[in-house]
Amino acid sequence: MSTEITSSNFIKNIVTSDIENGKHKKIITRFPPEPNGYLHIGHAKSIVLNFELADEFKGNTNLRFDDTNPTKEDTEYVESIKEDVQWLGFNWDNLYFASDYFEEMYKRAILLIKKEKAYVCDLTPEEIRTYRGTLKEPGTESPYRNRSVEENLQLFEKMKNGDFKDGEKVLRAKIDMKSANINMRDPIIYRISHAEHHNTGTNWCIYPMYDFAHPLEDAIEGITHSICTLEFEDHRPLYDWIVRECEMESTPQQIEFARLNITNTVMSKRKLKLLVDEKVVDGWDDPRMPTIAGLRRRGYTPEAVRNFCRAIGVARANSVVDAAMLEHFIREDLNTKAPRAMAVLKPLKLVITNYPEGEVEMLEIENNPDDENAGKRLVPFSRELYIEQEDFMENPPKKYFRLFPGNEVRLKGAYFVKCNNFIKDDNGNITEIHCTYDPETKSGTGFTGRKVKGTIHWVDAKDSIPAEFRIYEPLILDNDTDEEKHFLEQINPSSMEVLKGFVETNMKNAKIQDKYQLFRHGYFNVDPKDSKDNNLVLNRIVSLKSSFKLDKK
Ligand code: ATP
Ligand code: MG
Repeated sequence: MSTEITSSNFIKNIVTSDIENGKHKKIITRFPPEPNGYLHIGHAKSIVLNFELADEFKGNTNLRFDDTNPTKEDTEYVESIKEDVQWLGFNWDNLYFASDYFEEMYKRAILLIKKEKAYVCDLTPEEIRTYRGTLKEPGTESPYRNRSVEENLQLFEKMKNGDFKDGEKVLRAKIDMKSANINMRDPIIYRISHAEHHNTGTNWCIYPMYDFAHPLEDAIEGITHSICTLEFEDHRPLYDWIVRECEMESTPQQIEFARLNITNTVMSKRKLKLLVDEKVVDGWDDPRMPTIAGLRRRGYTPEAVRNFCRAIGVARANSVVDAAMLEHFIREDLNTKAPRAMAVLKPLKLVITNYPEGEVEMLEIENNPDDENAGKRLVPFSRELYIEQEDFMENPPKKYFRLFPGNEVRLKGAYFVKCNNFIKDDNGNITEIHCTYDPETKSGTGFTGRKVKGTIHWVDAKDSIPAEFRIYEPLILDNDTDEEKHFLEQINPSSMEVLKGFVETNMKNAKIQDKYQLFRHGYFNVDPKDSKDNNLVLNRIVSLKSSFKLDKK
């Protein structure tokens, strides 16, 4: 996989030359989400691109809700989108709603009618589809195409006044039914919908179609560069036609780029909403979701998401980015930020039989072996500890260097311990390991007498804090872009494992959204929804190791 770490891209080149040759003095971009779901990491790519481009050229960026579809939109989504954009670190210069322009759009539609560039059509939706033709065959003109201006004005007003039912009539642009571009074959620009709108209530029962509304919204706001994803490339001639024929003062330029796709990830709001509605996940902010809210709850930082978006670059070729690349950026960010701690996720009791009963030592453990400035912390140590179940084996294979009968290991930051015995319950499960420690081997005393091959982590059995750990795997199993197979059939049945273990006492003041690097386990975030004072819940953000290498150029 190739990743360009470069701040230059083809859109920036266009903007640079537009400024240099005087086409624009100041640029204005916009991020135009439809409030029909929560934002996802694909939107983050668009947000970073639009806001950073404007910042770089000292321009402005608007946050505009593209709320022209009354049935799917919701104020919950509006609020979540605002929160997510701000969390990513961006502040819009203006906050707009496309629905605020309904009056203006209506006037422009009347202008088109008066110019004989739009007409009211009575064909049914099926008929309109048939008349449209195909890629190979031209379309057929609607029998209503040559209505007089007066009749069109009257009918359009009646549409607006609610005299017709949904679907009974539409307003269409009069362009060219024989155009090679199907989008230009008299596209629908207004439809009837007797639905309540989250912003305008029941003021309107006709709503502008996206292809009509979007260019007008951009032009009204004086957007200079209207950046969108590649699927709108074929709509660009229509975009330009609307701006021109509606006689807008300002002429925005539409520029398309490739949308972000990530391996093992579904990215459309429609699909993400299905996961929420079908209760496959615990809401839009489930830590397995690629939503901004999900990534935040998982423990991703805005810095990591922004750095990822910058690194993937902006191009016109569609591609799929390895999910490991996103993980790379959170590891990179948290490596310097996250305090270190020890935690045992699957506890097994370890008793040090020659350690004095009742005694507790506070051991000084370095926070970050790679960073002297990270300091040290005190960790309680006594006769009874917990270690990971998988750090002991009764019959180990070759090259297993952790605990087994007769073997000696280092307890991280403590002493060497040697296993002498173990206890099994009636079912054959190992319940307790008995070891002896060697006081000479205390960590930090410079002991060189002998070496051990394994170092394992531990927590004190009495003086530690119970915690729940949630370990995540990709939500979507297969990365086959087999469109035939419904993505709900590709859900990973074990995308979350819940473990009950213990963390060291240094985490007693852990607050929601605090992040830690747990020795040998990875980076964890204190879950903002379920973690409570007496019930610590930790989401694993990412494990420590990665096979992923970012090629820096
Ligand atoms: P979805 O299919 O997920 O609903 P959308 O494009 O319909 O996405 P909008 O709310 O209309 O969602 O998108 C707002 C902006 O975000 C648009 O400019 C769109 O081009 C951009 N965007 C959406 N998805 C991606 C993506 N995967 N990569 C880059 N930009 C995206
Ligand atoms: Mg959409």
